[in-house]
Amino acid sequence: MTDRHPAVDLSDEERWTIALAKDRRYDGQFLTGVHSTGIYCRPSCPARPPRRENVRFYASAADAEAAGLRACKRCAPDRQSNEEAAVLAAIDEIRHAGDAPPTLDGLARLTGYSPAHFQRLFKRSTGLSPAAYARALREERAREALTGGDSVTGAIYEAGYAAPSRFYAASKEKMGMAPSAWANGGRGVTIHWAVAPTSLGPMLVAATEKGVCRLSFNEDGRELARRFPNAELVEGGEAFTALLAEVVASVEQPGDFAHIPLDVKGTAFQEACWKALREIPAGETRTYAQIAAAAGNAKAVRAAGSANARNNVAVLIPCHRVIHTGGDLGGYAYGLDIKRELLMREAK
Ligand SMILES: [Zn+2]
Repeated sequence: MTDRHPAVDLSDEERWTIALAKDRRYDGQFLTGVHSTGIYCRPSCPARPPRRENVRFYASAADAEAAGLRACKRCAPDRQSNEEAAVLAAIDEIRHAGDAPPTLDGLARLTGYSPAHFQRLFKRSTGLSPAAYARALREERAREALTGGDSVTGAIYEAGYAAPSRFYAASKEKMGMAPSAWANGGRGVTIHWAVAPTSLGPMLVAATEKGVCRLSFNEDGRELARRFPNAELVEGGEAFTALLAEVVASVEQPGDFAHIPLDVKGTAFQEACWKALREIPAGETRTYAQIAAAAGNAKAVRAAGSANARNNVAVLIPCHRVIHTGGDLGGYAYGLDIKRELLMREAK
């Protein structure tokens, strides 16, 4: 989920991408040391990006200072601002609230801001409104409890849901995403798959019992096994074949495919981006900036680009409808010919 301190191990290349995107949500998670100027910065520092070869990353201000660096005066990475303290206090409140998350008014009172101002502050820092944050947290806890092997109902109550029906309703809202074990390569999950010939070339479709988890072009079962090393991969299958036919039809005759169930998992921001992609009407296009804004963080343009790149389900999550400002087609994982063809069909 999107969090001020996401519990993920970032590679240096990911840290560099985050620093270039000036993504505030990672402030506090690492520091960018610039050895040509001798300063260290927060990931979101507004200063001009340094050159990659002069940059090293540090876990704490103490580490950066031990390496001989000084704190940047612009982003003051050695100080926690009042606003950050307010957001952290609110996150703490939400995390400990259980089934009745605090209201926006309550959080505003707690932190001494007006509700509207606090909502903006919180959103800028986490990418989500406090209410959406509380929802995403509950879903994440439900997933964690489920993967821990508890019974489904027990897991749901543990995660702070009043009743199971609300849990299923919430899961459905999130595009049919299964509370399943994606994190460990699909352990315990059966994935049916097939490659179907289409006018756009060989198309791989793979699905769990929840929905389509991968749609790609010019790929075979080996790539699928690389992505889901712990899943049981089954080629074909009766129920799957019906779904496959539906997917092929919606690719060949572009129309409404919102009813095809999906099984995808990403961070809360990535999922918000994918949802925004699904809301682009066929025949229209958007820019990365528009997707970032629709996902709730207008500044996270690069993060929106990376959410696009991490889309597992081509066409059904229509990342091909995102183009560059000015009309340049931009890129496409499966080649621009397929992107151009998809857009042309949808424009009719
Ligand atoms: Zn700075």
